[in-house]
Amino acid sequence: MLESNNPVVKEYFRKMIGEDGVKIMANVPEGEITDEEIARLSDTKLTSVRKVLYTLYENRIAEYRTERDDNSGWITYLWSFNRDNVKKIMEEEAEGGLKDLRSKLEYERKGVFYQCKCQRVLFEEAIEKDFWCDECESNFEHFDNGDLIKELEERIEEIEKWKKKIRRG
Ligand SMILES: [Zn+2]
Repeated sequence: MLESNNPVVKEYFRKMIGEDGVKIMANVPEGEITDEEIARLSDTKLTSVRKVLYTLYENRIAEYRTERDDNSGWITYLWSFNRDNVKKIMEEEAEGGLKDLRSKLEYERKGVFYQCKCQRVLFEEAIEKDFWCDECESNFEHFDNGDLIKELEERIEEIEKWKKKIRRG
C-alpha cells in the first residue's frame, strides 16, 4: 500500500527501510493492522517487521494506537500508515538541505580564505595573525575555493532537480 509509481519516491523509500522492508510493506493492506499480521502476510520474522515499523514511525509514516483486552490485559498495537507523509518528508529534507547548502555557498562566495597546515581561516584572521599559524607553525597561504563553490553549486542543482521530481507522479 505504500508503493508509489514515482521512481524518486520509490528510491527514497527503499533507502529508508531497505529492500526487505519494501517487500514487507508491499503486502500490507489499507487500514489498521498488527505487527503479527504483517509478519504473517509477508512471511517474515516479527523482529524484522518491528524494525521496519519503528523506522517508519520515526519518519512519521507509520503511527499506532493501542487496544487493551479487558480480560487478558494484553495490549495490541494497531498500526496504520500515512503515505502522503513520504513526499512531505522528502520535501522537508530537500528544503533543509538547500537552506544549508545555500548558506554555505554564500559564505564561500563572500569570503577570501587562507590556509595553513592545520586549518582554513578568513583573510581577516590571517592578516591579524600576520599570516603565521602558531598552532602548526606554518604560513597562511591563499586558498582558492573555486572548486568548493562549484561543488556546492552542483549539489544545490541536484537537490533542486530531485525536489521537482518528488512532485511528479
Ligand atoms: Zn596551522
